[in-house]
Amino acid sequence: MLRAMAAIDVHVTGGGTILNGEVKEDGKTVARCSLCSKEVEASAAIGAAHACAACLRDRLDALSVARFRLQQSRSGSLPWGKVTG
Ligand SMILES: [Zn+2]
Repeated sequence: MLRAMAAIDVHVTGGGTILNGEVKEDGKTVARCSLCSKEVEASAAIGAAHACAACLRDRLDALSVARFRLQQSRSGSLPWGKVTG
């Protein structure tokens, strides 16, 4: 029960599942993404949902963009059109 709240649970279509490093081979496994509602090659659990690599990547990109835009705006008066120097 190590870090049970942050379990890393991955499904691989036609391969099986890996839960916190514990491999369970199962050729009948079908990985599905809760976000784009597709059958995918592999998915990772996020809470009760499962997400594919493309959806996770989109969100990672969004995190970076949001951090960049919002943390910049906090330090200055305007987040855009800021004159450098
Ligand atoms: Zn997806």
